[in-house]
Amino acid sequence: MNLILFGPPAAGKGTQAARLVRERGMVQLSTGDMLRAAIASGSELGQKCQAIMARGELIADDIVIALIEDKLKAAEDAGGAIFDGFPRTVAQAEALDAMLAALGEKIDAVVRLKVDDTALLERVSKRYAEQGRPDDNPESFKVRLEAYNRNTAPLLPYYAEQGKLTEIDGMGTIEAVATALDAALA
Ligand code: AMP
Repeated sequence: MNLILFGPPAAGKGTQAARLVRERGMVQLSTGDMLRAAIASGSELGQKCQAIMARGELIADDIVIALIEDKLKAAEDAGGAIFDGFPRTVAQAEALDAMLAALGEKIDAVVRLKVDDTALLERVSKRYAEQGRPDDNPESFKVRLEAYNRNTAPLLPYYAEQGKLTEIDGMGTIEAVATALDAALA
């Protein structure tokens, strides 16, 4: 099974993805995590992306598509992927469909976590205080939310037209969101 967890930054996608990995043996493919690992390793890719990410802007489509392509076959062989933070543009969504089709696979479900902006700001300022992620600072977070609304929200109709989109309330506790997510996948 291939699932896209969809929602604005700090909506709780990573937390839910980690749980599905534990419980279902799926593989989490988070382009944000891959990019942070590249930055931490000091690689050429990391150096190229560091400032762009810190500002909260999107990384170029070809870069993130290549990151996913690199890991996709292994994830499919393991039983399926949870895409977390990818795709973020229509071009990425189309590339993902093509890459999956080449492996005889497809996206089975897209679950959108709905969270309001005030709650997001509260979550992200808490995360910034706890973890100090550079792009969680208020200015960068505003840019990330804008990028989400401009580039990523248009993906919702793309998947809704294919009958794959389920929306769940992302405002509850982690357990409540988990229950709603499991019901959406049943
Ligand atoms: P995330 O951890 O998913 O919130 O991603 C953190 C940052 O990494 C984003 O604000 C972007 O700068 C970059 N990034 C992660 N995934 C993508 C993607 N699919 N397309 C473009 N940029 C991305």
